[in-house]
Amino acid sequence: MLLAEFGSSGKGSMSYIQFLGAAGTVTGSKHLICIPRDSARGSSGLHPSGSKDALRVLVDCGLFQGPKEWRLKNWTDLPVPARQIDAVILTHAHLDHCGWIPRLYKEGFQGSVYATPPTVDLCGIILPDSGYLQEEDAAYHNYRKSSKHSPALPLYTLEEARQSLERFRAVAFEESVQLAPELSFRFVRAAHILGSAMAEVTVSTNGERRLLLFTGDIGRVRNHRTAPGKVIHSGPVGGESPDVLVMESTYGNRHHPEQDVMPELASLINATVERGGTVVVPAFAVERTQKFLFLLKELMDQKQIPAIPVHADSPMGIHAVKIYLKHSEEFSPEARDLIRRHGSPLEWPGFHFAATPEESKRINQMRYPSIIVSSNGMCVGGRILHHLMQRLPDPRNLMLFIGFQAPRTRGRLIRDGAREVKMFGQMVPVRARVAALEQFSDHADVDELIQWLGTFKKQPRSTHIVHGEPDSAEALRQALAEQLQWQAETATYMEKVEVR
Ligand SMILES: [Zn+2]
Repeated sequence: MLLAEFGSSGKGSMSYIQFLGAAGTVTGSKHLICIPRDSARGSSGLHPSGSKDALRVLVDCGLFQGPKEWRLKNWTDLPVPARQIDAVILTHAHLDHCGWIPRLYKEGFQGSVYATPPTVDLCGIILPDSGYLQEEDAAYHNYRKSSKHSPALPLYTLEEARQSLERFRAVAFEESVQLAPELSFRFVRAAHILGSAMAEVTVSTNGERRLLLFTGDIGRVRNHRTAPGKVIHSGPVGGESPDVLVMESTYGNRHHPEQDVMPELASLINATVERGGTVVVPAFAVERTQKFLFLLKELMDQKQIPAIPVHADSPMGIHAVKIYLKHSEEFSPEARDLIRRHGSPLEWPGFHFAATPEESKRINQMRYPSIIVSSNGMCVGGRILHHLMQRLPDPRNLMLFIGFQAPRTRGRLIRDGAREVKMFGQMVPVRARVAALEQFSDHADVDELIQWLGTFKKQPRSTHIVHGEPDSAEALRQALAEQLQWQAETATYMEKVEVR
């Protein structure tokens, strides 16, 4: 169904989904479900000030990140006023899925944001941090006079992000929530990050029911093979049978390595220790850092690496550890056993958590072999920069990448072999060794996606591919056609598709 067929009069009585983000790119996830109401029926939504002509629910409300042409869309108004959005159903706590919620709130959104309990907790640290970074960004542009707006304003502030948290409502996995007579939903496990869910949305209109499945980001289906010592989540849930499937395609054209990461990691660390060097690991503070710490602990306990000091240098990482342990029900049985055996990373001997900037700077003076895990994961900002300044020029050290490095980021340049990188206005030589381990991905690759779809009870009436760069979305579309004989469509930005 093409956009033009809906007309612009708004008279159509068809329910539709409109892709307001993560269509043609991997960020800015926002999918609007609109269910028109005839005026005779009136409003029955939960939200008194919401629009009466339709029920409008956003699945995810993420920030555009990466290339400027997409980032600028963070400043674009939605096609409907924020106050006409009745609710947000949030799949998980990554910024490209939740990072626009404070802006929606700032624009007048008065509904609730529904998320799983761990997602609510994680958003409690991630969104204020994002607000802080937005303010810093604006301050930087004002200092450099590098914005055409004067003064440059933040997309939202730390305080606005904090206030938006009051709108969050925790919903347990598999608990059904009737948002309005026309719409109910429940969360099922996605196994992507802590708290991550897929949203099963039931739309009931004119005596007909349609099940919509929004996958959010889909976790590893075969994780246990690649990282036996890693904390992994159970899921993703199989046996779905949606009428409409909206699925991600981040790695729709990729195959993750299948070999166990432990021996390779151990040999990289051991070689660095023998040189008298330090291993510097840029890692996202939430999820990746915690999983990596457990791997290190497991390797040390098995005497595969020496018990050298480990510095986790990220204040957000400390909060995230606590949230992790609070929600241990999230993990696979093997991971729960790992956590039971090792307890809290905050209490492990030899593992140091730098909360304050002073503690962070003190790490710079340490000259014996150690492991420094710090954010941000792509070396575009944060405390990792100080560690790079200190450690990149020394050939004894190792820069170890365990996460995705987006094109044109400092992390990508180093990983791809740059001889020097610019930091704090000066060129820093890269003499340290550089390695990258690909096994840590939290997204299913194409084979895993096909394997998961193979558990479906039936082929959906329509499948819409989102959340992927054009190449990977197209590769997944082709793989579905060839391997499952499924006809899928690649979603385009602002496109509306009928719920049928
Ligand atoms: Zn994600």
